[in-house]
Amino acid sequence: MQIAIDGPSGAGKSSVAKVVAAKMGLVYVDTGALYRTVGYYVREAGVAREDAAGIVACLPHIEIEVRYENGAQHVYLNGEDLGDRIREPEISMYASAVSAVPDVRGFLLDTQRNIAAKNSVIMDGRDIGTVILPNAEVKIFLTASDEARARRRTSELQAKGLDVKFEDVLREMRERDHNDSHREIAPAIAAKDAVLLDNSNMTVEETANAVIALARKTLEA
Ligand code: C5P
Repeated sequence: MQIAIDGPSGAGKSSVAKVVAAKMGLVYVDTGALYRTVGYYVREAGVAREDAAGIVACLPHIEIEVRYENGAQHVYLNGEDLGDRIREPEISMYASAVSAVPDVRGFLLDTQRNIAAKNSVIMDGRDIGTVILPNAEVKIFLTASDEARARRRTSELQAKGLDVKFEDVLREMRERDHNDSHREIAPAIAAKDAVLLDNSNMTVEETANAVIALARKTLEA
């Protein structure tokens, strides 16, 4: 079983996917964490976000391992679990920059497909339905208004103890969405066979139930 959830940042993909995974007994795969991990390494290496050649030169020094511990995904960078360090707003911008570099996408391709080959998964990202799992049984493109998404992202970051302002989160989110949806390689767009779901006025639980209903319908068909 493969469920692909794509969509812009803050649409609630990960919160929804976690609920669906728990209710359907699937492994939740957060692919953004992989791009964030590469972005983290690149920032630590002092390479500028615009320096595509510098980013590519980092790749041979990066070893990424994904482990599932008590049902939660942990991404190890050269043997170290970075935890919430990859969630910082600056790392979001690095993740978006490195994700537009074709070599980085190629570098992370097998890691993602191997997990899906070994497990029943619900995987979230930007190109899951279009590139990573084109044969997924269920594909969702999850969206919400810019304001709703920025509000959610702001509370999420503040709950983690980060001192962020709504206006800054909204601005950076729009910049990131623009980069992600306009890049040449694997842009964040809905697959032709994806179901579009706008959850601006839906709770996580309601959105998860909508996804589960779609999955059940597909399984019964
Ligand atoms: O989903 P998340 O916000 O953690 O993703 C961080 C960044 O990683 C996104 O802004 C996007 O640039 C990139 N990404 C991607 N393809 C994916 C998942 C994430 O390009 N499948």
